[in-house]
Amino acid sequence: MHFAAKGKSYRFVNVDSDITVDRRDARVRADGGEARVALPEQFFTVDGYAPFSAQMLLLRYWQQHGRPRVLKTVPGLPTNDVFIEDRGKTGAPIGGRTVPLRQFVVDGVVWGRETIWLDERGGLAAAITRAGGLSFEAVREDLEPGLVWFVEQATRDRIADLEAITRAAQPMRTGTYALTGATIVDGTGAGAIRDGVVVIRDGRIVDAGARSAVRVPDGAATVDGAGKTIVPGLWDMHTHVTQIEWAPVYLAAGVTTVRDMGNEFEFITALRDAVASGRAAGPRLLLAGLVDGGGPNAFGVEYAATPEEAKRVVDKYRGAGFQQMKIYSLITPPIVEAICAEAHRLGMTVTGHVPTGMTIDQAAASGMDHVAHLAIRGEADADDVRRTIAFLRERKTVIDPTQSWNELLGHAAGAPVAAFQPGIAKIPPPLNRLFSNAGTAGIDAATARTRLERGLRIVKALFDAGVPVVAGTDEGIPGHSVHREIELYVEAGLTPMQALQAATIVSARAMKLDAELGTIERGKRADLTVLDANPLDDIHNVRRVRWTIHDGKMYDSAALWRSVRFEP
Ligand SMILES: [Zn+2]
Repeated sequence: MHFAAKGKSYRFVNVDSDITVDRRDARVRADGGEARVALPEQFFTVDGYAPFSAQMLLLRYWQQHGRPRVLKTVPGLPTNDVFIEDRGKTGAPIGGRTVPLRQFVVDGVVWGRETIWLDERGGLAAAITRAGGLSFEAVREDLEPGLVWFVEQATRDRIADLEAITRAAQPMRTGTYALTGATIVDGTGAGAIRDGVVVIRDGRIVDAGARSAVRVPDGAATVDGAGKTIVPGLWDMHTHVTQIEWAPVYLAAGVTTVRDMGNEFEFITALRDAVASGRAAGPRLLLAGLVDGGGPNAFGVEYAATPEEAKRVVDKYRGAGFQQMKIYSLITPPIVEAICAEAHRLGMTVTGHVPTGMTIDQAAASGMDHVAHLAIRGEADADDVRRTIAFLRERKTVIDPTQSWNELLGHAAGAPVAAFQPGIAKIPPPLNRLFSNAGTAGIDAATARTRLERGLRIVKALFDAGVPVVAGTDEGIPGHSVHREIELYVEAGLTPMQALQAATIVSARAMKLDAELGTIERGKRADLTVLDANPLDDIHNVRRVRWTIHDGKMYDSAALWRSVRFEP
């Protein structure tokens, strides 16, 4: 009859909703508004990530009401479709015994699939999901020793789901084929080639250039690219791919490589392997292993407070094929040095936050090769800022300034996100509600823009000084934030070509993969994004992705968006 949820489940994830049922109608107060909603025959009230007991009740309701394929939930826009599947009985090995449980997948309470286990009495045993983009796990206290088992079990189930999505979204082309008649922006900085041809064979670019200079092999299939523009596959250099739904989203957005900056170890390594083996469609995953200092406020599950612990954690990540270490905020200065030394010894690089109590100069001097976010205060033309930028240039430190993330969280709360991010109109309802409620309270739009522009001036100063700037989102609005990040670099004063390069060749170079990736050149991996219009004419055209080619497989962007409940 009455449901209320109020509070904060994760940083910017606010929950504040109140529903009163009145026969066939409900009075719904949510997202800062109030409405009367006509109720369907069957419905349930639940809102967002917390508390999980509400999802336990949802599952019980579903079981008691004929297990419908779709269950409407309130609040939504105005209602929301939730899909539930029973994945059967299972036994959790915990403390030498097997605990009988039943496993469910729930899709639609939040964006993407969650795994939930109920015990034999219908009580909540555990749940695996993510909140605000990061992993979020709940496990009943007596079952806590089984946490890794729950993570592994959910991972297997989700990867199988992604393989099913992949089978349903088969590539339009594979093997040998040629794209003809499109404009080629090869990403090297050279001018656009009109009426170009790109020949692809078994995942590589065999040739690319003007039609007169490129021979299409006899018998090769051709794809008419007239009117389109081909750019190198995009990169997102700061992501946390905590759910499978990101994989089709990234390809749909023209992103063919991402650097993951911290994730659940079992999940991200399994996802990387599934994509690399071709079983699952998704971007190439480069991994940075997150490590924090000790103490009650430490983040994640890997900690290093001594040089020995630093060595152990770097070795663990290296052994699992991670390319980088990601240092988090509570690592102390001597341990930053120890992590960098061990990582460099093993051929890894180091990125991360500037730890608490250190400056960005000190972080770079301690060996950090990259720094995440824009950890520079003050004005771009201030003397100390100039000195810092000169030092970063000298150290060749790579910066991923995550300006789209700053904008998304820093815009004036209540002001429409669509004003700077048109992609919000195309995302699934639970994500739409989440991001519509993001923003900073107590400031107006002009103040928010002033803050953003200060950051953009520093991005421009870094770029002008020759500091490598790479495009990263810290997730944000799946797929669409990559495009926004690139647009913001143009707002900062970079040319469209320079902004595009930040999301392609500069990123590839930062990860030492520029011999294989990052431009459209003979012999490189065939990672290409085909746009309906030229982004050099207007950078907003980077949003107009038609096809994405990853490792030679050509996908229809619209089909990929739809596969995870986005609008193309
Ligand atoms: Zn991050």
